[in-house]
Amino acid sequence: MVFAASGRLVDGFGKFIAFCALSFTIVRLPLHFTMNKADKKYGTALPVMEQFYTIQGEGVHSGKAAYFIRLAGCPVGCHWCDVKESWKPKPHQLMPLKEIALRAALSGAPITVITGGEPAMYDLSALTGALKKAGLKVHLETSGAFAIRGKFDWICVSPKKRKPPLKASLRRANELKVVVYNRDDLAWAEKNAALVTRKCRLLLQPEWGKKETVLPYIIEFVQKHPLWQISLQSHKYMGVE
Ligand code: SF4
Repeated sequence: MVFAASGRLVDGFGKFIAFCALSFTIVRLPLHFTMNKADKKYGTALPVMEQFYTIQGEGVHSGKAAYFIRLAGCPVGCHWCDVKESWKPKPHQLMPLKEIALRAALSGAPITVITGGEPAMYDLSALTGALKKAGLKVHLETSGAFAIRGKFDWICVSPKKRKPPLKASLRRANELKVVVYNRDDLAWAEKNAALVTRKCRLLLQPEWGKKETVLPYIIEFVQKHPLWQISLQSHKYMGVE
């Protein structure tokens, strides 16, 4: 349920109005049972694996309240991926964009993070339009391997060797976040950093299962190259989603 997931309770009358609005919309926009062909092609609906109100755990906006929309579908195939359930769109519910945006707005979150999977494999123009219309700031987390379509307030590109990012995606990045699984990833990080704009923030993030091994040389690297900073998956330390 939205309110439980958000961790925020809207009191009294406000809660009643919000509940009615959501119920009304769900009745008017029943889910995949009545989808037409256009919906199925992702024009007005997208496969959602999960959505929830939480704390952004990674990157420049770490620690901020954020509503996460995790779209299903990713052809990149990183072996250390911690959301492998998101790779295939099919088992996940196709949800109308209006409903996705309404749920995000009702959460009370100031920021919506569209993540995956690989969300940029879809045209996100209509979804970002609906979210911005609802007054939300819209962030994107992507590998950069697909053309980014949509309007965003912040774009985090986390490049993956298995399917390298497009130069155009790197140029749009506000944040370059490189997951470090082994020492070679530091050279990979520098290679990508050469293609972003000067304003782009540079972050190295130890892969969770390897953090004890890789953190010492990430620390050493950041001390020698202070334009970089370290991103930890703080949501995992906090025990939130
Ligand atoms: S790009 Fe992201 S979702 Fe896709 S396999 Fe890699 S880590 Fe997993």
